[in-house]
Amino acid sequence: MSNFLNNMRILSLPSVMLAVFLLAFACTPKTAEQTTATPVKPVPAVEWDTLGKPLMGAEEDYADQNNPEEEVEPEEYTFMDEAVVTPDSDIVRSDTLRPYNASHTFEHDLIHTKLELSFDWAKKRANGKATLTLRPWFYATDKLSLDAKNFDIHAVGFEGNKGTLKYAYDNEKLVIDLGKTFTRSDEYKVVITYTAKPDERESFGGSAAITSDKGLYFINADGADPDKPRQIWTQGETESNSFWFPTVDKPNERCTQEMYLTVEDKYKTLSNGVLVSAKKNSDGTRTDYWKMDKPHAPYLFMMAIGEYAVVKDKWRNIPLEYYVEPKYEQYARDIFPYTPEMLEFFSKKLGYDYPWPKYSQVVVRDYVSGAMENTSAVIFGEFMQQDKRGLLDNHLTNEKVVAHEMFHHWFGDLVTTESWANLTLNEGFANYSEYLWLEHKYGRDEADFHEYSERQGYIYSALDGGRPLIHFGYENRESMFDAHSYNKGGAILHMLRTQVGDDAFFAGLNRYLKRNEFTDVEAHELRLAFEDVTGQDLNWFFNQWFFGSGHPNLEISYDWDETAGKATVTIAQTQEANKETPYIYDLPLQVDLYDASGKARRESIRLTKRSQTFSFDAPAKPALINVDAEKALLAIKNDQHTPEEWAFMYRHAPQWQDRWDALGNLKQGKSELAGQVFMEALRDKHWSLRQEALSAADLDNTEVRAAVAKMAESDPKPEVRATAIGMLSQTEDKAYVPVFEKGMGADQPYSVMGASLAALSKVSPEAALAAAKKIENDENEGIVISIAELYAGSPEASAFPWFLKRAKKMDNMAAFRYYELFVGYLTDLNDPAMLDSAVQAFQAVSLDGNNSLWRRFANTKAIADLRNFYRGNENTAKAEELSLLLADIREKEKDETLKMYYGMFEQP
Ligand SMILES: [Zn+2]
Repeated sequence: MSNFLNNMRILSLPSVMLAVFLLAFACTPKTAEQTTATPVKPVPAVEWDTLGKPLMGAEEDYADQNNPEEEVEPEEYTFMDEAVVTPDSDIVRSDTLRPYNASHTFEHDLIHTKLELSFDWAKKRANGKATLTLRPWFYATDKLSLDAKNFDIHAVGFEGNKGTLKYAYDNEKLVIDLGKTFTRSDEYKVVITYTAKPDERESFGGSAAITSDKGLYFINADGADPDKPRQIWTQGETESNSFWFPTVDKPNERCTQEMYLTVEDKYKTLSNGVLVSAKKNSDGTRTDYWKMDKPHAPYLFMMAIGEYAVVKDKWRNIPLEYYVEPKYEQYARDIFPYTPEMLEFFSKKLGYDYPWPKYSQVVVRDYVSGAMENTSAVIFGEFMQQDKRGLLDNHLTNEKVVAHEMFHHWFGDLVTTESWANLTLNEGFANYSEYLWLEHKYGRDEADFHEYSERQGYIYSALDGGRPLIHFGYENRESMFDAHSYNKGGAILHMLRTQVGDDAFFAGLNRYLKRNEFTDVEAHELRLAFEDVTGQDLNWFFNQWFFGSGHPNLEISYDWDETAGKATVTIAQTQEANKETPYIYDLPLQVDLYDASGKARRESIRLTKRSQTFSFDAPAKPALINVDAEKALLAIKNDQHTPEEWAFMYRHAPQWQDRWDALGNLKQGKSELAGQVFMEALRDKHWSLRQEALSAADLDNTEVRAAVAKMAESDPKPEVRATAIGMLSQTEDKAYVPVFEKGMGADQPYSVMGASLAALSKVSPEAALAAAKKIENDENEGIVISIAELYAGSPEASAFPWFLKRAKKMDNMAAFRYYELFVGYLTDLNDPAMLDSAVQAFQAVSLDGNNSLWRRFANTKAIADLRNFYRGNENTAKAEELSLLLADIREKEKDETLKMYYGMFEQP
């Protein structure tokens, strides 16, 4: 899924409201010799292969197919299983085993899934017929157990012999009595006809309020919302696709797939694989036949249905499609930026061409995640869908999400995590693809800047001690989609790359992919691939980073002995160790020693002690010693440099992180030297450092002020221009009005326009109001907020219709700010009729379940704020009226989370 944990994660009200969380993505059997059910004496491999399974062991370096004795599980697997569990006298003895989420045990292998589906919009149901091709995994059996959640089952039978099999169904598992015993060489097909009822969850044992894992979603099903298209789409990860088709809903399952979707002719459909045919039916519907002939995991199955504009593109001989709402058709290529170039880049970098028959990308409404890597058919949330000016601000977000989901097509779809405990084998790679793309397209500074925020995200999330990256002890599989699996996983891959070198890193990835293609994986398989390529033992690296938890905390200090001609670096590891966080990390590091001219000499060290001093020849005092010169280490460092050394680092060390750290440390001192460095940083080659320099800029200094004015007009990065404009406005100098007016130009990104409007309102309110009038109909959220700020700042009755009209569209996080401004505007004017009319509007939104949770909450909160306003004015009658209204809204609210939050408004 889209690590929109950071970028790809999405705002979801229930878990957010106050805390934002993000997210944001073949039925080939795994080779049986790796499963725990492996017989002691392996069956000759040739028998496995004749069962029609892909020849997973075909690579030359695999054990000889005719010599099965060599295919016994490698000793390393069993050895490694216990590698991180060290005896610890502090462990509280328990009478039960620690929680352990084992990988799914196979009784059957699902070989092929054929689905025929039609839809009942009114009831939000799907009518399905599933034909599944199966065979026992190893042991003979007369029972078949399938995941099938909350269905009405109509009939179960063998193909060609409908409805003759007995079954038991508990609303979650369908257990079919096959009537005879099948062995692993027997392939058979069962047909199940059923109705999927994703919106009728009460019968499933859940509450109707649980909306994030229902698998199949009907959007604006009754068409009541004129501003929202009708859509059907699915979200399978983690195990939700079994809400709309019966399957073995586990990531280590894989099968090929056919899908027949019958829809009204006006709708486009999308599914995995290629569209083989589209047949019009006599009743005005159309049946689209999609086929995926390469095996993939059931959680990667998808469909999306809606009235889309489909823009076609091509990479090599692979067809590409961009599905967007019609009004965004002209921006489709920019919404999914550089798709062909990325496919080429990743294919070349990995030495493994994109392995699927097509690549489609679709935006859906009300998506429950950031984006999802459904094989060959990626779903994205509507945040991606922006016009050209919006994309001037946000194109990097779109690029990162597109890269993330695309890279999953190798790491996630081609090789798939064996279980959710190993999720980082999907998400760590997808996360790191963002680095690879940025580095390729914009250079290492941009990539390092991105990586820095990824690491910060992880470090913040690990404040509670964190968890092992590979985590069999999780309580809830959904909790694995966090800043460990994503951010830390990506950071560790970056360290691995730095450790083994670029050539070995990409050769290692290539070997890992080739060896494990169309199978599921654990981290050991990654390690073995890298060990084969590098010739090195890498257990030390994998044990501390993949199987351990935490990260090093380093205190780094420096000394120089003139008489001995030696410089020393002392590094102390201060992290708190526990049974999973190492007391001592094994850390190979690069150290650069600089002479006064700025020339560096590189030394390699290996930190293997809790505290260790390294000595280097240095007849003259080094101007700077830079530890971890590649700035690849995931650690918290306290580097004890002098201000002169930090300034030297800013000016001479090559990495983005060097300059960032230098500014961060110098900022605290406010010395003349720091002032000089910050002045230089206003011209840094990377925008983030110019931005940082702006934050410390002294506008009383005329030279600085001139530089900021120049940035406000012409810095290439919109964020920097917007910040510079905001700073200039603090001078309240009318001389800058033309700069701000230029920022309101029709070609400017929204961020610059919003900042310019705010700046104008500070310096010249008349000019601001005139400018706002011209853009009152702009629908961009940021612009609407800027105008609302302006109108709330100098409240006039004439703005009321505008506030009411815009309120109809405000959603998500922006809704909170908007309603806050709206309420401020209303209470400042304090017009009774206007207040009543606003309350009515708020109430209508709160009571209408078609509005998003965000919108309902923001509107209810607005009513509560007005109630508080009346209380403050001692207008008890009005306050009481609104209190009753709030109680009524709470009473009628069906969402349990929202109901709970509404309780907060009832406090006196
Ligand atoms: Zn992902």
